[in-house]
Formats: sequence, C-alpha cells, structure tokens
Amino acid sequence: MKSLCVYCSSSDRLEPKYYAAATELGEELGRRQWTLVYGGGKTGLMGALARGVKSSGGRVVGVIPEFMKVRELEFAEADELICVLTMRERKMLMETRADAFLALPGGWGTLEELLEILTLAHLEVLHRPVVIFNQDGYYDDLLRLFDRIVGEKFMHDTIRTKYAVARTVAEIIPLIEGWNRQPGDAKWFQTR
Ligand code: AMP
Repeated sequence: MKSLCVYCSSSDRLEPKYYAAATELGEELGRRQWTLVYGGGKTGLMGALARGVKSSGGRVVGVIPEFMKVRELEFAEADELICVLTMRERKMLMETRADAFLALPGGWGTLEELLEILTLAHLEVLHRPVVIFNQDGYYDDLLRLFDRIVGEKFMHDTIRTKYAVARTVAEIIPLIEGWNRQPGDAKWFQTR
C-alpha cells in the first residue's frame, strides 16, 4: 500500500478533537512512508492532515482546482501540487493516483467525494478499499441511511462489502491493509 486518498473537511471551526485525529493520522501515514493524495487545501482537517504527514517525513500530493489556488487556499508545502480546472477533474485525478480511499468527518464536499467513490465500487469499476472514519459516531446517521437503503431494497446488501468503518485512527490502516488479504472478510460487513 503506497498512496491513500483522503476526503475530509475544509472547515476551520470544528472541535479540536477533529484536528487532533487528522494530525495523528497524517503522522502515521508519514511514519509508514505512505503518500497522501488529497484536495490540496491548507484549511480544516485537510491542512491538519497534510501538516501531520509532512511533520513525520511523508509525501503529500494535492490536487487543487485553479479557482482555489487563486484564493490562496492551497497547501504550499505539498511535494506535488497538481492544478486542475474543475472539481470533477480533481476527483478523477485523486482517484487515479490512490491505492485506497478514506473519508474523515466532513461536509458536502466530503460526502460528495465519498459517495462517488462508493458508487464506483458498487458498479465494480473500482476495486480498492474504501474506509469511513466514524469518529465519535459522526457518520452514524449516514450509516443508518445505508441500512435503510438496503432494508427498503433501493440497493442490494452487497453494498456493505464495499466499505469498512473505523472507529479510531488506529483502526484505519489495519482495515485498509486487511482488505487485500481477505476481501469480503467479516470486518468489511461491519456497519458501525
Ligand atoms: P467539505 O467537506 O464540504 O469541507 O469539503 C471538503 C472536501 O471537498 C475535500 O476533501 C476537498 O477535496 C474539497 N474541498 C472543499 N473545499 C476545499 C478547499 N477550500 N480547498 C481544497 N479542497 C476543498
């Protein structure tokens, strides 16, 4: 495993625990020499994560749309900052550069990115691990909605094999690494 694409909040107004977890994850990625592929921003959890990776000697690849660069929202210390025109182009590039995907807590931007990657996994266009970090139950309501989607037969229960849920930062990397060994393993059915 080499490159992890992380989707996460751009907000600077969150409780400190969210930045702490993003920093902790970034430091762990750096220690393991994994490359972070992300939205290239310096704000919110994105900034905390990227600074964490750099502080422990890791590599950061940011994919940022031109209009955000103009507004000076980019993480200038990134090892590689790829400038694209649109948000769609950005998502596509982030997808092609990553071996696995992870959503930390976030808003609409994060949800949009997560649901797009899950949809690709569902359609079997994508065969790479997707992990949702359900920090302090942040994603409980979304996971309940996934249950309802299956319960009311909008989708088949095989969607549960397309993602795993981590409850702590320490659970994230073992879940990603475990995916290669045993796709369809019980933990890939775990919903909360
Ligand atoms: P949100 O969860 O709504 O804060 O959006 C964050 C997600 O959308 C990130 O994973 C980014 O890929 C993208 N994004 C939104 N705002 C920014 C920003 N200011 N700089 C870089 N990426 C952003």
